[in-house]
Amino acid sequence: MTQTNLMTIPGQVDPVPVARDITPREDGRVDLIGLPKARIRELFEEAGLDAKAAKLRAKQVFHWLYHRGVTEFDAMTDIAKTMRPWLAERFVIGRPDVVEAQHSSDGTRKWLLRTSDGHDFEMVFIPDETRGTLCVSSQVGCTLNCTFCHTGTMRLVRNLTPGEIVGQVMLARDALGEWPRGTMAGLDEFDEDRGHYTADGRLLTNIVMMGMGEPLYNFDHVRDALNLVMDGDGLALSKRRITLSTSGVIPMMDRCGQEIGVNLAVSLHAVRKEVRDEIVPLNKKYGIEDLLQACADYPGASNARRITFEYVMLKDKNDSDEDARELVRLLRKYDLPAKVNLIPFNPWPGAGYECSTPERIRAFSDIVFEGGISAPVRTPRGRDIDAACGQLRTAAEKKSRAQRDREAAGTAAAAS
Ligand code: SAH
Ligand code: SF4
Repeated sequence: MTQTNLMTIPGQVDPVPVARDITPREDGRVDLIGLPKARIRELFEEAGLDAKAAKLRAKQVFHWLYHRGVTEFDAMTDIAKTMRPWLAERFVIGRPDVVEAQHSSDGTRKWLLRTSDGHDFEMVFIPDETRGTLCVSSQVGCTLNCTFCHTGTMRLVRNLTPGEIVGQVMLARDALGEWPRGTMAGLDEFDEDRGHYTADGRLLTNIVMMGMGEPLYNFDHVRDALNLVMDGDGLALSKRRITLSTSGVIPMMDRCGQEIGVNLAVSLHAVRKEVRDEIVPLNKKYGIEDLLQACADYPGASNARRITFEYVMLKDKNDSDEDARELVRLLRKYDLPAKVNLIPFNPWPGAGYECSTPERIRAFSDIVFEGGISAPVRTPRGRDIDAACGQLRTAAEKKSRAQRDREAAGTAAAAS
């Protein structure tokens, strides 16, 4: 079993178990995936290399791990043959286990993944005409209970580690055969899907932290993972191609801009307090106006890098003409460089909402556009395999209704 210790997550009343930064496996070996280059170097020194050798080997190994995507030390051909077993005795190159891979009729793919201590989570790949977006999870489950979100019916099992977060990106590259020089053995079945989206012909061009969980309640791990994803010596994805979505954890938004610097998406979903209190209960703690002010202060936001406001269209709940006008008023009041993504509600078994009609969504979108703010309607993707926004949920970890009510009451109490 992986060892866990307790830490307090900002905004949460109770400490939740999180996996430690470095947890040796049962056989004593350490997984290198998720560790910064400097930490790999330290580990090599601790294992007996002198400082100069440790520095060189860390640089080489980092390149093989994140630029070339190898999963065996034996494939690291510029490292001496005698050195490779030395590494393999002490270290491993991990990936989350793939439990199931599903393919939607619209090309969307969903993977059910498992951590080494047996928790399931999901990632989704959404190809379209001009880009390929990987939707990455940050937690197994979620502490928040947005009422329209299937993940919100799960309890939080634990935060994902940096290795498990960056591991999703690496797995996607494995599956898409997108490491430089050749595909990974056994994964060539996906070759028929190859496209030419980027100069180097890659399918995976963008990352959104919009899978399971609230990324700003797992800030340190998400930051460390995304810094690996952006490292120019490794995966080298530009921060402009990465978007982090939050339900509105105001105290962490500034650090997100400062320490990660990626694009920000905010799950607004309602413009009136009573409605947002109901559908995004975190609103009782961090209200709409404070949230918009935090967006106005977000480092790096500009007309060239606008903040995305996500707005799920729920029939007779948040979809009136007045709501649309109020949305425009608020975004203007805070002078926000904003675009609005209107997301048709994706149903799931037992959900207490219906999606707004296409006519209603169109009318809402038109009002926002007329207010000078772009408000495209998102086409749901992967609904047939439950891969669309808000449909992610893994089997085991169900919250009882009573537990959800207690948590909602706790959030309200914390707010007052
Ligand atoms: N926890 C973060 C990121 C994950 S959710 C957040 O809430 O922002 C990604 C997006 O999907 C959010 O905007 C979320 O509100 C939206 N979403 C959740 N359930 C949905 C559903 N059933 N239909 C459509 N969108 C949904
Ligand atoms: Fe958690 Fe986001 Fe779902 Fe809300 S919408 S329950 S914050 S994953």
